[in-house]
Amino acid sequence: MDCDTIYTADYLITQNDAGDVLRDAALAIAGDSIVCVGHENVLSILYPNAERVDLGRAVLMPGLVNAHTHVPMSLLRGYSDDKALQDWLQKDIFPQEAKLAPELVELGARFSLAEMIRTGTTAFYDMYMLEDSVFRAADDMGLRAVLGESVTRFFPSLAATDVEEYCARVRRYADEWKGHPRIRQAVVPHAPYTTTPELLRLCRDLADETGSLFGMHLAETPQETEQCLKEHGVRPVAYCEKLGLLQPDATFFHLVDIEEEDALLLAEGRCAGVHNPASNMKLASGVAPIDTLLSARVPVGLGTDGPASNNAQNMLREMYVAALLHKVYHLDPTKSPAKQVLTMATRGGAEALHEPRIGSLEPGMKADFIALSLKEPNMQPVHNIISQVVFATTGAEVCLTVVDGKELYRNGQFTTCDYPALLEEIQQAIAWTRR
Ligand SMILES: [Zn+2]
Repeated sequence: MDCDTIYTADYLITQNDAGDVLRDAALAIAGDSIVCVGHENVLSILYPNAERVDLGRAVLMPGLVNAHTHVPMSLLRGYSDDKALQDWLQKDIFPQEAKLAPELVELGARFSLAEMIRTGTTAFYDMYMLEDSVFRAADDMGLRAVLGESVTRFFPSLAATDVEEYCARVRRYADEWKGHPRIRQAVVPHAPYTTTPELLRLCRDLADETGSLFGMHLAETPQETEQCLKEHGVRPVAYCEKLGLLQPDATFFHLVDIEEEDALLLAEGRCAGVHNPASNMKLASGVAPIDTLLSARVPVGLGTDGPASNNAQNMLREMYVAALLHKVYHLDPTKSPAKQVLTMATRGGAEALHEPRIGSLEPGMKADFIALSLKEPNMQPVHNIISQVVFATTGAEVCLTVVDGKELYRNGQFTTCDYPALLEEIQQAIAWTRR
Protein backbone atom coordinates (compact mmCIF):
# COMPACT_ATOMS: atom_id res chain seq x y z
CA MET A 1 0.00 0.00 0.00
CA ASP A 2 1.26 3.50 -0.82
CA CYS A 3 2.30 5.99 1.81
CA ASP A 4 2.72 9.78 1.58
CA THR A 5 4.54 10.59 4.78
CA ILE A 6 6.48 8.82 7.51
CA TYR A 7 6.75 10.47 10.93
CA THR A 8 9.54 9.15 13.12
CA ALA A 9 10.22 9.70 16.82
CA ASP A 10 12.03 8.15 19.78
CA TYR A 11 8.75 6.81 21.20
CA LEU A 12 5.32 5.87 19.88
CA ILE A 13 2.37 5.08 22.15
CA THR A 14 -0.01 2.98 20.05
CA GLN A 15 -2.95 2.58 22.46
CA ASN A 16 -3.69 -0.67 20.58
CA ASP A 17 -5.34 -3.60 22.42
CA ALA A 18 -1.94 -4.83 23.65
CA GLY A 19 -0.93 -1.34 24.83
CA ASP A 20 2.28 -1.45 22.78
CA VAL A 21 4.81 1.35 23.20
CA LEU A 22 7.50 1.37 20.49
CA ARG A 23 11.06 2.78 20.54
CA ASP A 24 12.73 4.34 17.47
CA ALA A 25 9.33 4.21 15.93
CA ALA A 26 7.62 5.39 12.78
CA LEU A 27 4.09 6.07 11.65
CA ALA A 28 3.26 5.88 7.95
CA ILE A 29 0.20 7.67 6.62
CA ALA A 30 -1.56 7.85 3.29
CA GLY A 31 -4.24 10.49 2.78
CA ASP A 32 -6.40 10.60 5.90
CA SER A 33 -5.39 7.17 7.27
CA ILE A 34 -2.59 5.28 8.98
CA VAL A 35 -1.08 2.56 6.79
CA CYS A 36 1.68 1.22 9.00
CA VAL A 37 3.16 1.55 12.51
CA GLY A 38 6.52 0.02 13.39
CA HIS A 39 10.26 0.38 13.68
CA GLU A 40 11.66 3.33 11.72
CA ASN A 41 14.27 1.20 9.90
CA VAL A 42 11.61 -1.20 8.67
CA LEU A 43 9.24 1.55 7.52
CA SER A 44 12.07 3.38 5.73
CA ILE A 45 12.69 0.25 3.66
CA LEU A 46 8.99 -0.37 3.07
CA TYR A 47 8.33 3.21 1.91
CA PRO A 48 11.56 4.59 0.39
CA ASN A 49 9.77 7.35 -1.54
CA ALA A 50 7.63 8.73 1.28
CA GLU A 51 8.30 12.19 2.66
CA ARG A 52 10.04 11.83 6.04
CA VAL A 53 9.35 14.00 9.05
CA ASP A 54 11.92 13.19 11.73
CA LEU A 55 10.71 14.43 15.12
CA GLY A 56 13.71 13.01 16.98
CA ARG A 57 13.48 13.27 20.75
CA ALA A 58 9.69 13.19 20.90
CA VAL A 59 6.75 10.88 21.50
CA LEU A 60 4.07 10.19 18.89
CA MET A 61 0.68 9.25 20.27
CA PRO A 62 -3.02 9.25 19.38
CA GLY A 63 -4.65 12.70 19.35
CA LEU A 64 -6.54 13.44 22.56
CA VAL A 65 -10.33 13.50 22.54
CA ASN A 66 -12.11 16.18 24.54
CA ALA A 67 -15.40 14.35 25.01
CA HIS A 68 -17.41 17.15 26.60
CA THR A 69 -17.09 20.89 26.24
CA HIS A 70 -18.77 24.16 25.27
CA VAL A 71 -16.06 25.79 23.15
CA PRO A 72 -17.63 29.26 22.67
CA MET A 73 -17.36 29.80 26.41
CA SER A 74 -13.70 30.81 26.10
CA LEU A 75 -15.36 34.25 25.91
CA LEU A 76 -16.18 33.82 29.61
CA ARG A 77 -12.93 32.27 30.78
CA GLY A 78 -12.28 33.73 34.23
CA TYR A 79 -15.44 35.85 34.17
CA SER A 80 -16.98 34.08 37.18
CA ASP A 81 -15.18 31.68 39.47
CA ASP A 82 -15.53 30.20 42.95
CA LYS A 83 -19.32 29.63 42.82
CA ALA A 84 -21.67 26.63 43.00
CA LEU A 85 -23.21 25.35 39.75
CA GLN A 86 -26.71 26.89 40.05
CA ASP A 87 -25.46 30.22 41.40
CA TRP A 88 -22.78 30.38 38.75
CA LEU A 89 -25.20 29.51 35.91
CA GLN A 90 -28.20 31.62 36.93
CA LYS A 91 -26.48 34.76 38.18
CA ASP A 92 -23.39 35.05 35.99
CA ILE A 93 -23.36 32.79 32.95
CA PHE A 94 -26.96 32.79 31.64
CA PRO A 95 -27.33 36.63 31.72
CA GLN A 96 -24.16 37.03 29.66
CA GLU A 97 -25.16 34.30 27.24
CA ALA A 98 -28.49 36.03 26.62
CA LYS A 99 -26.51 38.84 24.93
CA LEU A 100 -24.57 36.56 22.56
CA ALA A 101 -24.56 36.94 18.79
CA PRO A 102 -23.38 34.42 16.16
CA GLU A 103 -20.12 36.30 15.44
CA LEU A 104 -19.15 36.22 19.10
CA VAL A 105 -20.01 32.53 19.44
CA GLU A 106 -17.81 31.79 16.45
CA LEU A 107 -14.94 33.88 17.83
CA GLY A 108 -15.09 32.06 21.18
CA ALA A 109 -15.20 28.71 19.38
CA ARG A 110 -12.22 29.53 17.18
CA PHE A 111 -10.21 30.62 20.18
CA SER A 112 -10.91 27.36 22.01
CA LEU A 113 -10.13 25.34 18.90
CA ALA A 114 -6.74 27.06 18.70
CA GLU A 115 -6.11 26.08 22.32
CA MET A 116 -7.12 22.49 21.62
CA ILE A 117 -4.89 22.24 18.52
CA ARG A 118 -2.00 23.79 20.48
CA THR A 119 -2.38 21.33 23.37
CA GLY A 120 -2.89 18.12 21.40
CA THR A 121 -6.64 17.63 21.11
CA THR A 122 -7.73 16.32 17.72
CA ALA A 123 -11.44 15.61 18.33
CA PHE A 124 -14.15 17.05 20.58
CA TYR A 125 -17.84 16.75 21.50
CA ASP A 126 -19.45 20.14 21.89
CA MET A 127 -22.87 21.48 22.83
CA TYR A 128 -23.89 25.13 22.83
CA MET A 129 -26.32 27.63 21.35
CA LEU A 130 -25.97 28.97 17.79
CA GLU A 131 -23.85 25.89 17.21
CA ASP A 132 -23.68 26.54 13.45
CA SER A 133 -20.81 28.88 14.35
CA VAL A 134 -18.98 25.93 15.91
CA PHE A 135 -19.69 23.74 12.87
CA ARG A 136 -18.05 26.43 10.70
CA ALA A 137 -15.06 26.82 13.03
CA ALA A 138 -14.43 23.05 13.24
CA ASP A 139 -14.82 22.65 9.48
CA ASP A 140 -12.40 25.51 8.79
CA MET A 141 -9.81 24.72 11.42
CA GLY A 142 -9.69 21.00 10.63
CA LEU A 143 -10.66 19.31 13.90
CA ARG A 144 -12.88 16.25 14.19
CA ALA A 145 -16.09 16.94 16.10
CA VAL A 146 -19.53 15.90 17.27
CA LEU A 147 -21.58 19.08 17.60
CA GLY A 148 -25.05 19.81 18.92
CA GLU A 149 -27.43 22.71 19.42
CA SER A 150 -28.26 22.72 23.11
CA VAL A 151 -31.91 23.17 24.07
CA THR A 152 -33.83 23.84 27.30
CA ARG A 153 -37.54 24.30 28.01
CA PHE A 154 -37.04 28.05 28.30
CA PHE A 155 -38.26 29.65 25.06
CA PRO A 156 -37.61 31.98 23.40
CA SER A 157 -33.90 31.17 23.55
CA LEU A 158 -30.96 32.58 21.69
CA ALA A 159 -31.27 29.86 19.07
CA ALA A 160 -35.04 29.45 18.64
CA THR A 161 -38.30 31.18 19.54
CA ASP A 162 -40.09 27.89 20.11
CA VAL A 163 -39.64 24.15 19.88
CA GLU A 164 -40.64 24.02 16.19
CA GLU A 165 -37.89 26.46 15.33
CA TYR A 166 -35.43 24.39 17.33
CA CYS A 167 -36.41 21.26 15.38
CA ALA A 168 -36.06 23.17 12.10
CA ARG A 169 -32.55 24.23 13.12
CA VAL A 170 -31.51 20.62 13.90
CA ARG A 171 -32.94 19.46 10.57
CA ARG A 172 -31.07 22.25 8.76
CA TYR A 173 -27.75 21.24 10.40
CA ALA A 174 -28.44 17.62 9.39
CA ASP A 175 -28.89 18.70 5.75
CA GLU A 176 -25.96 21.09 5.70
CA TRP A 177 -23.39 18.79 7.31
CA LYS A 178 -24.55 15.41 6.01
CA GLY A 179 -21.64 13.17 4.94
CA HIS A 180 -18.94 15.53 6.27
CA PRO A 181 -15.72 13.52 6.70
CA ARG A 182 -14.98 14.89 10.20
CA ILE A 183 -18.14 16.43 11.64
CA ARG A 184 -21.28 14.77 12.97
CA GLN A 185 -24.36 16.23 14.62
CA ALA A 186 -25.79 15.29 18.01
CA VAL A 187 -29.14 16.27 19.47
CA VAL A 188 -28.27 17.58 22.92
CA PRO A 189 -30.93 18.64 25.41
CA HIS A 190 -29.17 20.55 28.20
CA ALA A 191 -30.06 18.47 31.29
CA PRO A 192 -33.03 16.81 33.02
CA TYR A 193 -33.52 19.84 35.30
CA THR A 194 -33.80 22.33 32.38
CA THR A 195 -36.13 20.25 30.20
CA THR A 196 -39.44 18.37 30.37
CA PRO A 197 -40.15 14.69 29.67
CA GLU A 198 -41.95 15.77 26.47
CA LEU A 199 -38.98 17.81 25.27
CA LEU A 200 -36.58 14.92 25.99
CA ARG A 201 -38.76 12.48 24.07
CA LEU A 202 -38.94 14.90 21.18
CA CYS A 203 -35.13 15.26 21.18
CA ARG A 204 -34.72 11.49 21.11
CA ASP A 205 -37.10 11.24 18.12
CA LEU A 206 -35.31 14.09 16.40
CA ALA A 207 -31.97 12.27 16.78
CA ASP A 208 -33.50 9.17 15.16
CA GLU A 209 -35.16 11.17 12.39
CA THR A 210 -31.98 13.08 11.46
CA GLY A 211 -29.50 10.24 12.02
CA SER A 212 -27.80 12.28 14.76
CA LEU A 213 -26.16 11.12 17.98
CA PHE A 214 -27.70 11.97 21.37
CA GLY A 215 -26.02 13.61 24.36
CA MET A 216 -26.94 15.32 27.63
CA HIS A 217 -25.55 16.47 31.00
CA LEU A 218 -26.70 13.88 33.53
CA ALA A 219 -26.43 13.28 37.28
CA GLU A 220 -24.04 16.21 37.62
CA THR A 221 -24.82 16.96 41.28
CA PRO A 222 -26.63 15.36 44.25
CA GLN A 223 -29.08 18.31 44.06
CA GLU A 224 -30.09 17.18 40.57
CA THR A 225 -30.86 13.71 41.92
CA GLU A 226 -32.91 15.18 44.75
CA GLN A 227 -34.97 17.31 42.38
CA CYS A 228 -35.48 14.39 39.98
CA LEU A 229 -36.65 12.13 42.81
CA LYS A 230 -39.09 14.82 43.94
CA GLU A 231 -40.49 15.59 40.49
CA HIS A 232 -40.35 12.20 38.78
CA GLY A 233 -39.97 9.70 41.62
CA VAL A 234 -36.77 8.16 40.24
CA ARG A 235 -33.05 8.93 40.04
CA PRO A 236 -31.80 10.79 36.89
CA VAL A 237 -30.50 7.70 35.03
CA ALA A 238 -33.71 5.75 35.70
CA TYR A 239 -35.67 8.79 34.53
CA CYS A 240 -33.75 8.68 31.22
CA GLU A 241 -34.36 4.96 30.98
CA LYS A 242 -38.11 5.45 31.44
CA LEU A 243 -38.07 8.00 28.62
CA GLY A 244 -36.20 5.63 26.28
CA LEU A 245 -33.07 7.78 26.18
CA LEU A 246 -30.58 5.03 27.02
CA GLN A 247 -29.58 4.02 23.49
CA PRO A 248 -26.21 2.93 22.02
CA ASP A 249 -25.70 6.32 20.31
CA ALA A 250 -26.10 8.23 23.58
CA THR A 251 -23.38 9.92 25.61
CA PHE A 252 -23.97 11.35 29.09
CA PHE A 253 -21.74 14.02 30.55
CA HIS A 254 -20.52 14.28 34.16
CA LEU A 255 -22.25 11.23 35.77
CA VAL A 256 -21.14 12.37 39.23
CA ASP A 257 -24.02 11.22 41.42
CA ILE A 258 -24.04 7.62 40.19
CA GLU A 259 -24.83 4.45 42.11
CA GLU A 260 -24.17 0.93 40.91
CA GLU A 261 -27.79 0.52 39.73
CA ASP A 262 -27.37 3.65 37.56
CA ALA A 263 -24.14 2.33 36.03
CA LEU A 264 -25.85 -0.99 35.22
CA LEU A 265 -28.72 0.80 33.47
CA LEU A 266 -26.24 2.82 31.38
CA ALA A 267 -24.35 -0.37 30.51
CA GLU A 268 -27.56 -2.15 29.53
CA GLY A 269 -28.40 0.71 27.17
CA ARG A 270 -24.81 0.54 25.81
CA CYS A 271 -24.41 4.27 26.47
CA ALA A 272 -21.12 6.10 26.91
CA GLY A 273 -20.16 8.41 29.76
CA VAL A 274 -17.79 11.35 30.08
CA HIS A 275 -15.77 12.29 33.14
CA ASN A 276 -15.09 16.02 33.72
CA PRO A 277 -12.90 16.11 36.80
CA ALA A 278 -11.68 19.74 36.76
CA SER A 279 -15.18 21.17 36.24
CA ASN A 280 -16.63 18.87 38.92
CA MET A 281 -13.93 19.99 41.34
CA LYS A 282 -14.24 23.69 40.52
CA LEU A 283 -18.03 23.75 40.86
CA ALA A 284 -17.77 21.38 43.84
CA SER A 285 -20.25 19.04 42.15
CA GLY A 286 -18.64 15.89 43.53
CA VAL A 287 -16.40 13.05 42.36
CA ALA A 288 -17.65 10.78 39.59
CA PRO A 289 -17.32 7.08 40.50
CA ILE A 290 -15.38 6.09 37.39
CA ASP A 291 -14.54 2.66 38.83
CA THR A 292 -18.24 1.90 39.24
CA LEU A 293 -18.88 2.95 35.63
CA LEU A 294 -15.90 1.07 34.20
CA SER A 295 -16.69 -2.09 36.23
CA ALA A 296 -20.20 -2.02 34.79
CA ARG A 297 -18.55 -1.76 31.34
CA VAL A 298 -19.72 1.74 30.58
CA PRO A 299 -17.11 3.30 28.25
CA VAL A 300 -15.81 6.50 29.84
CA GLY A 301 -14.24 9.40 27.96
CA LEU A 302 -12.60 12.45 29.46
CA GLY A 303 -13.65 16.06 28.90
CA THR A 304 -12.78 19.52 30.09
CA ASP A 305 -16.31 20.96 30.11
CA GLY A 306 -16.46 24.60 29.01
CA PRO A 307 -13.65 27.14 29.43
CA ALA A 308 -15.73 29.02 32.02
CA SER A 309 -15.85 26.05 34.40
CA ASN A 310 -12.36 24.59 33.99
CA ASN A 311 -10.82 27.13 32.80
CA ALA A 312 -8.73 25.43 30.10
CA GLN A 313 -9.35 23.28 27.02
CA ASN A 314 -6.14 21.37 27.65
CA MET A 315 -6.57 17.59 27.78
CA LEU A 316 -3.03 16.97 29.02
CA ARG A 317 -3.87 19.04 32.08
CA GLU A 318 -7.22 17.24 32.39
CA MET A 319 -5.51 13.85 32.45
CA TYR A 320 -3.28 15.06 35.28
CA VAL A 321 -6.28 16.27 37.27
CA ALA A 322 -8.15 12.99 36.66
CA ALA A 323 -5.18 10.91 37.77
CA LEU A 324 -4.74 12.85 41.00
CA LEU A 325 -8.37 13.36 41.99
CA HIS A 326 -9.31 9.71 42.53
CA LYS A 327 -6.15 8.95 44.48
CA VAL A 328 -6.79 11.63 47.07
CA TYR A 329 -10.55 11.11 47.17
CA HIS A 330 -10.19 7.40 47.94
CA LEU A 331 -6.94 7.90 49.87
CA ASP A 332 -5.59 5.18 47.59
CA PRO A 333 -2.64 5.92 45.27
CA THR A 334 -3.43 2.90 43.07
CA LYS A 335 -6.66 4.54 41.83
CA SER A 336 -6.83 5.97 38.27
CA PRO A 337 -3.33 4.92 37.14
CA ALA A 338 -1.74 6.85 34.27
CA LYS A 339 -2.53 4.13 31.73
CA GLN A 340 -6.23 4.14 32.61
CA VAL A 341 -6.42 7.92 32.36
CA LEU A 342 -4.64 7.95 28.98
CA THR A 343 -7.11 5.35 27.75
CA MET A 344 -10.04 7.54 28.85
CA ALA A 345 -8.57 10.46 26.89
CA THR A 346 -8.04 8.41 23.72
CA ARG A 347 -10.02 5.18 23.28
CA GLY A 348 -12.67 6.20 25.79
CA GLY A 349 -13.08 9.47 23.91
CA ALA A 350 -13.51 7.56 20.66
CA GLU A 351 -16.36 5.62 22.25
CA ALA A 352 -17.93 8.76 23.67
CA LEU A 353 -17.88 10.30 20.17
CA HIS A 354 -19.11 6.99 18.67
CA GLU A 355 -16.16 7.17 16.25
CA PRO A 356 -14.40 3.78 16.11
CA ARG A 357 -11.76 5.01 13.63
CA ILE A 358 -9.89 7.09 16.24
CA GLY A 359 -8.30 6.50 19.65
CA SER A 360 -5.28 4.35 18.69
CA LEU A 361 -2.44 4.38 16.18
CA GLU A 362 -2.94 1.25 14.07
CA PRO A 363 -3.19 0.49 10.34
CA GLY A 364 -6.62 1.44 9.00
CA MET A 365 -7.30 4.03 11.69
CA LYS A 366 -7.71 7.73 10.92
CA ALA A 367 -4.43 9.68 10.91
CA ASP A 368 -5.31 11.72 14.02
CA PHE A 369 -2.15 12.00 16.08
CA ILE A 370 0.10 14.34 18.00
CA ALA A 371 3.74 14.58 19.01
CA LEU A 372 5.17 15.90 22.27
CA SER A 373 8.73 17.13 22.51
CA LEU A 374 10.84 15.35 25.12
CA LYS A 375 13.44 18.11 25.03
CA GLU A 376 11.64 20.26 27.60
CA PRO A 377 13.19 20.23 31.09
CA ASN A 378 10.03 18.77 32.63
CA MET A 379 10.11 15.79 30.24
CA GLN A 380 13.41 14.12 31.18
CA PRO A 381 14.57 11.56 32.08
CA VAL A 382 12.09 9.12 30.55
CA HIS A 383 11.65 6.12 32.83
CA ASN A 384 8.07 5.55 31.72
CA ILE A 385 6.72 7.45 28.75
CA ILE A 386 3.02 7.10 29.74
CA SER A 387 3.75 8.43 33.22
CA GLN A 388 5.56 11.36 31.56
CA VAL A 389 2.58 12.19 29.33
CA VAL A 390 0.00 12.01 32.14
CA PHE A 391 1.89 13.43 35.11
CA ALA A 392 4.60 15.73 33.71
CA THR A 393 3.16 17.63 30.75
CA THR A 394 1.81 21.17 30.64
CA GLY A 395 0.60 21.30 27.02
CA ALA A 396 3.57 23.38 25.87
CA GLU A 397 5.38 20.17 24.81
CA VAL A 398 2.96 19.58 21.92
CA CYS A 399 4.97 20.14 18.73
CA LEU A 400 2.68 18.52 16.16
CA THR A 401 -1.09 18.09 15.79
CA VAL A 402 -2.47 16.14 12.83
CA VAL A 403 -6.11 15.37 12.00
CA ASP A 404 -7.20 13.27 9.02
CA GLY A 405 -3.59 13.27 7.84
CA LYS A 406 -3.45 17.07 7.74
CA GLU A 407 -1.03 19.02 9.92
CA LEU A 408 -2.92 21.67 11.91
CA TYR A 409 0.08 22.72 14.00
CA ARG A 410 3.82 22.19 13.87
CA ASN A 411 6.52 23.82 16.01
CA GLY A 412 4.69 27.03 16.91
CA GLN A 413 2.86 27.46 13.61
CA PHE A 414 -0.88 27.00 13.13
CA THR A 415 -1.76 26.06 9.56
CA THR A 416 -5.53 26.58 9.68
CA CYS A 417 -5.85 29.80 11.65
CA ASP A 418 -4.22 33.21 11.86
CA TYR A 419 -3.50 33.05 15.57
CA PRO A 420 -2.08 36.60 15.99
CA ALA A 421 -5.30 37.99 14.47
CA LEU A 422 -7.43 35.75 16.68
CA LEU A 423 -5.53 36.96 19.72
CA GLU A 424 -6.50 40.55 18.90
CA GLU A 425 -10.13 39.65 18.17
CA ILE A 426 -10.68 37.83 21.46
CA GLN A 427 -10.20 41.16 23.27
CA GLN A 428 -13.78 41.98 22.16
CA ALA A 429 -15.00 39.55 24.82
CA ILE A 430 -14.23 42.07 27.56
CA ALA A 431 -16.36 44.81 25.96
CA TRP A 432 -19.21 42.33 25.39
CA THR A 433 -19.46 41.33 29.06
CA ARG A 434 -19.73 45.02 30.03
CA ARG A 435 -22.41 45.87 27.44
ZN1 LIG B 1 -21.09 20.91 30.29
